[in-house]
Amino acid sequence: MSKRALVTGITGQDGHHLAEQLLKNGYTVYGLIRGQNNPKRTAFEAAFPAVRLLEGDLTDPAALVRAVEDSDPTELYNLGAISHVGYSFKNPSLTADVTGKGVLNILEAVRVTGRAETTRVYQASTSEMFGGLDYNRPGSGYDENSLFHPRSPYGVAKLYGHWIARNYRESYGMFVSCGILFNHEGEHRGPEFVTRKITQAVARIKLGLQNKIVLGDLYPKRDWGYAGDYVRGMWQMLQHDEPDDFVLATGETHSIEDFLTGAFAEVGIDDWRPYVVQDPAFMRPAEVDILLGNPEKAERVLGWRRETSFEGLVSLMVRNDLALEAVHAR
Ligand code: GDP
Repeated sequence: MSKRALVTGITGQDGHHLAEQLLKNGYTVYGLIRGQNNPKRTAFEAAFPAVRLLEGDLTDPAALVRAVEDSDPTELYNLGAISHVGYSFKNPSLTADVTGKGVLNILEAVRVTGRAETTRVYQASTSEMFGGLDYNRPGSGYDENSLFHPRSPYGVAKLYGHWIARNYRESYGMFVSCGILFNHEGEHRGPEFVTRKITQAVARIKLGLQNKIVLGDLYPKRDWGYAGDYVRGMWQMLQHDEPDDFVLATGETHSIEDFLTGAFAEVGIDDWRPYVVQDPAFMRPAEVDILLGNPEKAERVLGWRRETSFEGLVSLMVRNDLALEAVHAR
């Protein structure tokens, strides 16, 4: 049977990895793209001429119904969201509409077009739903049964998305699986996230294009994995017999200081301190101090394995940015 996937958020980091993997697996891939003159459109079309783009916004139910009818997907990956925690504090209402209610809109589009039994849905849930507070922090890492206590408008909106996805699974018997993904990074990560901000700056410092990097808090710890590994897990969730929730994580946690140490070491700089300036503008009204995930269920039930280590991730991101920035240095 021909496999058709509809991907929202296809121009984002995960959309990029997913489009690549689905095309390789023989899928017909449709991507939902937002906005008149979307600045990412041209680059995306050049990279993925085989992907069929449909126009629509997660806040526009009629557009989603049209996109679902036009693509008639066997699998739908809802990756579209306002995905940046810092930005969500500045735009909480928009974040609720897109990241939260957008999930309801896409599920309704599947249901009202009569596809509740034929379209499998992946919902991009997140470790930001846990919040990293002391009382709520299991030593072995957060798993599918851990308590939620989101610490940002983004985390709260994602928690609504998570529960409405589960509700559609329970109410209508829909195949909806939620991947609770811990931070995942790589060469397609946006520069507004701390890892890419660091690797771009390190490359530019090495090449003499810049001499400082301005960051917020350096103590928070994250469970950082490679996006390519995690996107493979999303696909595995939709190939499984039953819809369910799965944590994807590495089971390791590292501070931003650790990331700085690794990234600067990659270009032969032992002490990063002279290059780093802290600015409260990059600190958050409420911080998630530590995230650590336990991927045991995904490993056992799906056979998922991450292949890239923390050191491998830092190294691949720095090397990628060195190659990109070297063009400017010439
Ligand atoms: P998040 O875990 O989804 O919020 O991913 P980010 O990459 O945006 O942030 C990871 C951690 O880095 C958070 O604890 C931020 O507060 C911290 N951080 C420190 N400086 C910066 C910065 O300049 N930019 C960003 N994005 N995060 C920073």
